[in-house]
Amino acid sequence: MLPVVKAKGSLLFDDKGKQYIDGIASWYTCMYGHCNPFILDRVYRQMQRLDQVVFSGFTHKPAIELSEGLVKILPPNQEKLFFSDNGSTATEIGIKMALQYHFNLGQKRKVLMAFENGFHGDTFGAMSVSGLSVYNGPFEELFLEVERIPVPTADNLESILEKLEERLKKDDIAGFIYEPLVQGAAAMLMHKASDLDPILKLLKVKGVLLIADEVMTGFGKTGSNFASDHIPTKPDIICMSKALTAGLIPMAVTSCTLEVYNAFYSDEISKGLFHGHTYTANPLSCTAALAGLQLLQSQEMQDNIARVIKSHRDFDAEIKDHPKVAGTRQTGVIYALDLNIKMERYGDVRDRLFQHFMDHGVYLRPLGQTIYILAPYVISDDELQTIYMVIKSALEIA
Ligand SMILES: *Cc1c(COP(=O)(O)O)cnc(C)c1O
Repeated sequence: MLPVVKAKGSLLFDDKGKQYIDGIASWYTCMYGHCNPFILDRVYRQMQRLDQVVFSGFTHKPAIELSEGLVKILPPNQEKLFFSDNGSTATEIGIKMALQYHFNLGQKRKVLMAFENGFHGDTFGAMSVSGLSVYNGPFEELFLEVERIPVPTADNLESILEKLEERLKKDDIAGFIYEPLVQGAAAMLMHKASDLDPILKLLKVKGVLLIADEVMTGFGKTGSNFASDHIPTKPDIICMSKALTAGLIPMAVTSCTLEVYNAFYSDEISKGLFHGHTYTANPLSCTAALAGLQLLQSQEMQDNIARVIKSHRDFDAEIKDHPKVAGTRQTGVIYALDLNIKMERYGDVRDRLFQHFMDHGVYLRPLGQTIYILAPYVISDDELQTIYMVIKSALEIA
């Protein structure tokens, strides 16, 4: 374990003073840079007014302002927000919303649908819909009822749609949860909006609620605010966390349409969604998120995003035909390359690569044979070049 004592901008510092470029933005959270002074200042001021208060029966300005800000940048059908405190709870709530929506309407839909190799978090509902079985072995028999469909490609799309059409005749699917465009934990696997859209469209027509897990893809990563912006068929529910609070304090939001909300809005208390965490909508987290939202929408940050996208594209042109590279892919600021060698998800080569990166002052976390970059938007051109150089030298030792 490496003791990390400080972070600033795109850099992490260990206890010996050695610095590392944070090439994965500490799991895609601190996209505006670590310890961003604008965000710190806002939170410091908030923390002297109101630190924490129960979010049941009470509300507060940071939550109200954040809600207004989020609704402005979310796809236009998203009108209501449900606060919680991490990515797994954001998806857990999305799943509960979908199940209870049908329950409240008196419909018998109890099955969930998800992609193969999806990752949606580590709590029980989230684990159930996650398809990365390396994490879930001991619990599999206890899961919710989930059926999986393959991630669409130009080749399998027709057959997926055919099978789905048949399967949907039973009218028992409550919701479909998906990571739009990029499956993060599956090693940044990507699919096309044009391949995903027909699936979403069919599910929607058949009354299945669409739950977009944008915990990883949200807040600019794909080049627009949300990955769902690239896809014509909009989700009914969107899960957000990670970059939502800019890496400062954990929080999450699950948004939904008015139609979903209305299925819960009733004088009958049992129709409500009973789910509340102690730190739900913590005022400091809301303040961090609001400051992050302001930064995301600034011209400067949008220019940074465009710059990183172009920089990765140039690097890709240079590296994609390298004999040790099996394939490359990019969506927005997310760049991944697969090595042309056999590797275990937690094996020797992976450890050797990781050590090579760290020795050269770059924090990258290979996933299986995939090396990916998801750096803070504010990373400098020099820092980007350092990452590329260290990846190139890693290819020599791989
Ligand atoms: C990280 C992640 C989660 C889980 O978030 P946590 O805050 O780690 O619980 C869920 N879905 C996706 C797509 C993620 O990347």
